[in-house]
Amino acid sequence: MSEIPYVWVKDNRWVLLHPDTQDKCRRILSSPRRGCPNRAVASFRRSNGWWSYCEAHMYGQRIRNGIVEVKVTADSPAASQGSVDIIPNRLRG
Ligand SMILES: [Zn+2]
Repeated sequence: MSEIPYVWVKDNRWVLLHPDTQDKCRRILSSPRRGCPNRAVASFRRSNGWWSYCEAHMYGQRIRNGIVEVKVTADSPAASQGSVDIIPNRLRG
């Protein structure tokens, strides 16, 4: 069984927060249900605004050399482009 080859590329949907930010991670933990107590390190652009998360709760993204990166398959358009950037529809064309 062969593994699907992948590469890490820059994820332009995320921005790093200032190290001194007081923003808390937005992830809700269960049992007991409470907000994640960690300080946020990066923000993800959702349709309803920016949501900040700690490094443990970044949906698989990683931070390398001050850049948020995401793992994509090696034959994907994002891999050949070298980044992932979802531009909201209203900003297209
Ligand atoms: Zn968290």
